[in-house]
Amino acid sequence: MSEPGPGSRPGASPGREPLGAPERPAPGGPFPGRHFIAGEWIESGSGRSFESRNPANRGDLVGQFQAGTPADVAMAIRAAETALPAWRATPAPRRGEILFGYASLLRRDKERLARALTREMGKVLPEARGDVQEAIDIAELMAGEGRRMFGDTVPSELPDKWAMSIRQPIGVAGIITPWNFPMAIPAWKTMPALVAGNTVVFKPASDTPHCATLLVELMAEAGVPAGVVNLVTGGGAEVGDAIVDSPDVPVLSFTGSSATGRRIAERAGRRLKRVALELGGKNAIVVLADADLDLAVDGIIWSAFGTTGQRCTACSRVVVERSVSSRLLEKLEARTRALRLGDGADPATDVGPLINEAARTKVEGYVEIGRREGELVCGGRAATGPGLEAGVFYEPTIFTGVEPMARIAQEEIFGPVLSVIAVEDYASAMTAVNQVRYGLSSSIYTTDVNTAFRAMRDLETGLVYVNAGTIGAETHLPFGGWKETGNGHREAGHAALDTFTEWKSIYVDFSGRLQRAQIDNQPG
Ligand code: NAP
Repeated sequence: MSEPGPGSRPGASPGREPLGAPERPAPGGPFPGRHFIAGEWIESGSGRSFESRNPANRGDLVGQFQAGTPADVAMAIRAAETALPAWRATPAPRRGEILFGYASLLRRDKERLARALTREMGKVLPEARGDVQEAIDIAELMAGEGRRMFGDTVPSELPDKWAMSIRQPIGVAGIITPWNFPMAIPAWKTMPALVAGNTVVFKPASDTPHCATLLVELMAEAGVPAGVVNLVTGGGAEVGDAIVDSPDVPVLSFTGSSATGRRIAERAGRRLKRVALELGGKNAIVVLADADLDLAVDGIIWSAFGTTGQRCTACSRVVVERSVSSRLLEKLEARTRALRLGDGADPATDVGPLINEAARTKVEGYVEIGRREGELVCGGRAATGPGLEAGVFYEPTIFTGVEPMARIAQEEIFGPVLSVIAVEDYASAMTAVNQVRYGLSSSIYTTDVNTAFRAMRDLETGLVYVNAGTIGAETHLPFGGWKETGNGHREAGHAALDTFTEWKSIYVDFSGRLQRAQIDNQPG
């Protein structure tokens, strides 16, 4: 770890004077984004900034944010290292109290945060409130961990000897997040990192820096000490790589695409860092012949087109028993055609925009592939019309007659595109669901309890739902995926602490003599 120079104030550097909290812009006006380093809001050494715009209306400039550099990251890491000894020495229950305070600030400002989230990321307001609520939930859960953080106390095999294990913080945690849950995911990572006694350098997605700034502002207000959480905005190649490559950041928590995750794992692997990865998904809903079809349609519409299909747990495949596939499809098509696209802030809107033009181009590319691989049922084009001209909208799209190994049934599209795959029976449904590289979420609709339990056993995903869609995880159970969705770590629940703590096993021998484990307790 690099040492701060005598008397130096982390975060300060010539020509980069702290600017105070970002000024509140005129309502609706662009926000002047800054890094947050060592408790100060500062500009990047790059002198450059980037824009964040409302995806429902590209003319609406949310704010200008700092285009960070490796030098900015180095400053943030140094601030986090400087703050570490005092923070790790703070009793965990006290750290938890600060997180409780943070949760209550999030609750106080929930509506303001949700509206800012909808404006920057596009999801409809009720979902934006849910995103903020997840941040509140994880803050409260992890605050409680401050008074638990269980280890094991076990009997020793030798007399007059005590054996126990405790969790300890790792150090500076690098946290890199995507845009699709711009408040929940940063909270899912920072809250366990902080309660465990780590300090943080946080790089949010470049599409949602304002949401990140609002979260960090409230952390400061809650009393998180200066330097404990540092925010650096900017691109993956400049800011992200600098965090990943730093020898002074021993633990990384990343959520994003499998391509970026693989790259991060390779680079971090060279330094033997701990890396927790939450990556892509290709989630399926199975509908068996005995299912309540109306209930299944509710779950499919919510899972496939909620958040415009931009959830890691979004349903992009329906695997249906052939005997009910036409009836299901008829209901699905009717419901899908009735969905209203628009600005997520409008209460009449069911489906908001895609995050940006690149996302729409990607969706368009997959729809072209889909036209060759299946039969288009509805959608299949960029949405236009009154109120949609200035945003990045795409019609909710369904393909039917899709084979399980087709590209649109195998690759993550991350948009409102659903493939319907007909199968003969339960066994072929399981094969179709499991025959993908990803393993995040799956669901089955059936009224047969025996089949439901078989599916709970057979589905190869980290999350399984019975008679509910593929989305809707709660913060007190582990969250994460099998196969290429991750690398075995879990967020949420008490499992989240595993990413951010080292185990220490401690033996205390109070016999006053040499006792040899595995030897002195054996006969002969
Ligand atoms: P992404 O392009 O991989 O970006 C994720 C984050 O990584 C962003 O902050 C990005 O910064 C940063 N990044 C990009 N290149 C980097 C590099 N070389 N080094 C370090 N960081 C780098 O993913 P996304 O498009 O934002 O998110 C969508 C993906 O996330 C989907 O695949 C989705 O399934 C996945 N996701 C998974 C989960 C889960 O829990 N499994 C949850 C949500 C989303 P910039 O924004 O500056 O490029």
